[in-house]
Amino acid sequence: MDEHSGTLHCEPCEACHFEAWQRIVDGRLRWEESQSCPVYGVQACHGGWGPPPPWVRERIIAEEGTVRLPVGEPDGVPIALLRRVYGLTIAEVAAARATGWEATPVEARFLAESAGAADPGQAYSSPSGG
Ligand SMILES: [Zn+2]
Repeated sequence: MDEHSGTLHCEPCEACHFEAWQRIVDGRLRWEESQSCPVYGVQACHGGWGPPPPWVRERIIAEEGTVRLPVGEPDGVPIALLRRVYGLTIAEVAAARATGWEATPVEARFLAESAGAADPGQAYSSPSGG
């Protein structure tokens, strides 16, 4: 699933600079990570579809924080959607239902768009006024 390009030097060193981010591409969740090193002059990029690996997600959360989303009907993230996107176990779903789901801002937007896409009437209605 992962795509790799560029070459890493043997180990990340103290001068290495990491960046990680998420975006939505064609209605799908995508993550990217880049490493650049002024000492070795290397750059590497990794990316993949779906939720990022834990170490990438931690980096994104450190930068952008999280949004706590309610889970379950009627107003929360649909449980089926949450399970499909994150591959949660039953226990994880139960915990998310109880406490809410900590999503990154991009994931929150993606989940809202995905939930809305199942209901075209809702997705295309726009409230009048501002
Ligand atoms: Zn380095």
